[in-house]
Amino acid sequence: MPSTINNTGANTSSDAGGSCSSCACGKGQGILQGLWPRRVIQAVSFYFLAEFSYYGIFRCPFAVPYVSCANCPVVQCPGRKLWLVVLSGILVSGLLFGRAFCGYACPVGTLSDIFSQVALVKRRMAPMVKRVLHMGKYLAAAGAVYVFFAMHNPRWAVPIRTGEFVNSTMLTFEHANLFWLVRTGVVSAAILLGLLIPYFFCRFLCPTGGVLEVLRRFSLFGYSMNSACVDCGKCDRHCKLDTRPGESNCTNCGSCVDTCPVDAIAITRGLKPKN
Ligand code: SF4
Ligand code: SF4
Ligand code: SF4
Repeated sequence: MPSTINNTGANTSSDAGGSCSSCACGKGQGILQGLWPRRVIQAVSFYFLAEFSYYGIFRCPFAVPYVSCANCPVVQCPGRKLWLVVLSGILVSGLLFGRAFCGYACPVGTLSDIFSQVALVKRRMAPMVKRVLHMGKYLAAAGAVYVFFAMHNPRWAVPIRTGEFVNSTMLTFEHANLFWLVRTGVVSAAILLGLLIPYFFCRFLCPTGGVLEVLRRFSLFGYSMNSACVDCGKCDRHCKLDTRPGESNCTNCGSCVDTCPVDAIAITRGLKPKN
């Protein structure tokens, strides 16, 4: 039986509620659950990874960005030093903490988080619509794997160097082929759509999110709901990703823990069935 770490940090059986004795409010703080620790990690990560992220979307000449950095002619891209560390970090963190990379470290996830504060469409999606849209990130991941292994990750753009950030980006657009323009246009539009529908790219189209979503199902740690749950839906209504702890798209951000009236949300440790 998987064990859980309740809000006090103590181990309990998965059937026990996560009661709290650490403060007077009756709702405890799980590991990294508070807003500020997450914001600090997001800010530090954004500082180190935002430029790499930007290059991957707007300057990387390869069909699948971020993974062929060792052969890339864009010498000023920070990915030449970072790619292996970041790639292995994402995979290891996925096996340990599911989609926590999305909730804590990814610069696009942080940007989507900011966009979600002003997103206009707050309505929950119908389960059937969500199920269909969720397939997008798995298809994107499968497409990326196919392009990388079967097509040997072709170059779709000519990265012209001028030394100037904006100028170089504009020249990449001018000299890229149609496939690159479509890929970059779709990714940019889906990220911007996050201003309307929270986390649209992260929930439905990101290939990295698709890979992490698969790893999440086998991850060792993550928030989940225990049997104290009365199915009130408060965590779901609070979550900007329109999900519940331990379910598809949950990034283990922990921000819903305090919304649960029966303290049914706790960090689960060990292999466990996940939705
Ligand atoms: S889904 Fe993709 S873009 Fe969104 S936070 Fe995760 S890795 Fe980043
Ligand atoms: S369900 Fe809770 S822990 Fe998971 S992403 Fe939503 S708010 Fe964060
Ligand atoms: S808020 Fe708590 S009781 Fe309500 S659905 Fe979520 S986990 Fe269950």
